[in-house]
Amino acid sequence: MLVDVRDMCKSFRHGSRKLDVLRGVNLTVRAGEMVTIIGASGAGKSTLLHCLGTLDLPSSGEILFYPKGGGVPTDITRLSPPDLADFRNRSIGFVFQFHHLLPEFSAIENAMMPALIARTPKRVARENAEAMLDAVGMSHRLSHRPGELSGGEQQRVAIARALAMRPRLLLADEPTGNLDTKTSAEVHELLFRLNEEHDLSMLIVTHNMELANQMPRVVRMADGRILDAGESSSAEDSDQSP
Ligand code: ADP
Ligand code: MG
Repeated sequence: MLVDVRDMCKSFRHGSRKLDVLRGVNLTVRAGEMVTIIGASGAGKSTLLHCLGTLDLPSSGEILFYPKGGGVPTDITRLSPPDLADFRNRSIGFVFQFHHLLPEFSAIENAMMPALIARTPKRVARENAEAMLDAVGMSHRLSHRPGELSGGEQQRVAIARALAMRPRLLLADEPTGNLDTKTSAEVHELLFRLNEEHDLSMLIVTHNMELANQMPRVVRMADGRILDAGESSSAEDSDQSP
C-alpha cells in the first residue's frame, strides 16, 4: 500500500456559500500502481489531486502515506508546514495540463529546478535531470527552451521535471488535455512505460476515454464522490510485499 485516503472532505467558502467539493472520498493506491481518474468537469478530480499532493488541505479526513517497505503510515494532513514541504519535494511529482515550464530556461534547467530549490548539489541535480530527460526521450533537446519545443516535447520535459526528484507518486492532471490525439497517445504510452520501468505510482486525470479504456485501473468520480474505485477488493490482499 502507498496511499490510503479515508473519508476525505473538502469544502470551499465562496462568498456566503459553502461548496462541498469532496464529499467523503475513500481511495487506496498500491505501490507501483497506475490509476486513471475520470469524471465530468467539476466532479472534484483536481481538488482530489491537490489534496493528495499537499497543495491544498482537506477539510476533514485522513491521507495515510505508507513508508517504503510498509510500516506505520503518516497522516500527511497533520504534518507541520516545513514537514509538508519536505514531504511534497521528496515524494510527489506533479504534471499539469499546461506544462508550467519556465520560458526563459532550457529543458535541462527546467528539469533541474525542483532539485536546486530543494538545495540538491548542482552536479547531482544535473545528473538526475539528464537521466529523466533521457528516460522521456528528450536527451537531444537539453538546451532548447520551451518555446523551441513542440507541445508533446514540452509535456515530456514537464514529466522529466516531475520525476527528477524520484517521487513515489506522480500526480498528473489532464497531462494530455492540451495535446492532439497522436501526441496524447504518445504521452500516455510514455507514462505507462515510466510506471513499469521505475515502479512509480501514478494518478492520472484524463478526459480521453479512449486512453482511459486502455488503462489498468479506472476510478470514476462524480459530484465529489467516487462512484467506482475500479478495483476488486482482493487487490488489498496481494499488497503485503514492499
Ligand atoms: P474537476 O477537476 O473535476 O473539473 P475541480 O476539483 O477543479 O473539478 O472543482 C470541483 C468544484 O469545486 C468546481 O465546482 C469548482 O468550481 C469548485 N472549486 C474548485 N476550487 C475552488 C476554490 N478554490 N474555491 C471555490 N470553489 C472551488
Ligand atoms: Mg480539473
